[in-house]
Amino acid sequence: VTTLCALLGFPVEHSRSPSMHNAAFRALGMDWRYEAIAVEPDRFQALVHGLPERGFVGANVTIPHKLRALEVADDVSATARAVGAANTLSFSGGRIVADNTDVTGFLTALAERAPGGAPAGMKALVLGAGGAARAVVYALLAEGAERVLVWNRHPDRARALVAELGHGAGGRLEAAAEPDPRAAGLVVNATSVGMEGESDDFGGAMRGFKDLRLSVDDLREQQVIVDLVYRDGGTPLVREARMRGLRCVDGFDVLVHQGAASFAQWTGRAAPLEAMRDGARKRN
Ligand code: NAP
Repeated sequence: VTTLCALLGFPVEHSRSPSMHNAAFRALGMDWRYEAIAVEPDRFQALVHGLPERGFVGANVTIPHKLRALEVADDVSATARAVGAANTLSFSGGRIVADNTDVTGFLTALAERAPGGAPAGMKALVLGAGGAARAVVYALLAEGAERVLVWNRHPDRARALVAELGHGAGGRLEAAAEPDPRAAGLVVNATSVGMEGESDDFGGAMRGFKDLRLSVDDLREQQVIVDLVYRDGGTPLVREARMRGLRCVDGFDVLVHQGAASFAQWTGRAAPLEAMRDGARKRN
């Protein structure tokens, strides 16, 4: 019988996780399949409890269920607990285990694409205050970033994130009223701005990324740009950063590495990264 893994979200149609993981299973000749399941919030818990008997050994969890994934789990990893969100569930021995591989996915992609851009001792600007931003801020502080500024469209959410994740961290974590990238060696877009189908709102008088409140003139050569949003051809921010020769980590890089970490947990095998990169760039 085929072993199953799932993506649980709402909606799920636009995700590249199924094509990425199925490419990995094929590359290793495994009789496994990864399915996208759209699940509404009030059905999440019951659905998860029913997955093991249907042959599922694990699942990724995306918007809007990353908090619910913590609540449904019997065991929660220290990372997922600290971040306050889980993106990976594993079913084994009748237990549900929750982890957050967005943290390691972000750090591995950063180390790969921007060697020398390691967060230790750096100043960083993080745009966004949702689940992805929490994972990024946690990762940066854990790796010894000196100062992390968090900007969000709704400032109360940035302040709440800072209040929750700032405790006991070595570096300084602050909410920023405006996104000022000038002193930042690392700029991370952890909002959903730049996704496919959105109007780019680039150019014009602003010459920049209106919803991110950044101007293209804010981008400087020494900076490392990370955009968690993935999009064929690159998001406007990624395209502009690459054109200017900045070191750049795009959403596919992060997707592949968070997926590889989930894959290793479920299968006990090293993920075939090249197959996953190819799979992520194709639609199902
Ligand atoms: P989320 O919890 O729903 O948070 C969304 C964030 O985007 C919030 O900070 C929100 O600000 C902001 N936002 C949305 N529309 C905006 C706009 N028009 N202008 C300014 N800010 C806006 O989502 P999430 O889980 O953090 O995910 C964020 C993005 O990262 C998604 O696109 C997701 O696909 C991507 N992601 C990618 C990976 C990867 O592996 N590549 C991993 C995780 C997440 P408000 O609070 O003001 O609404």
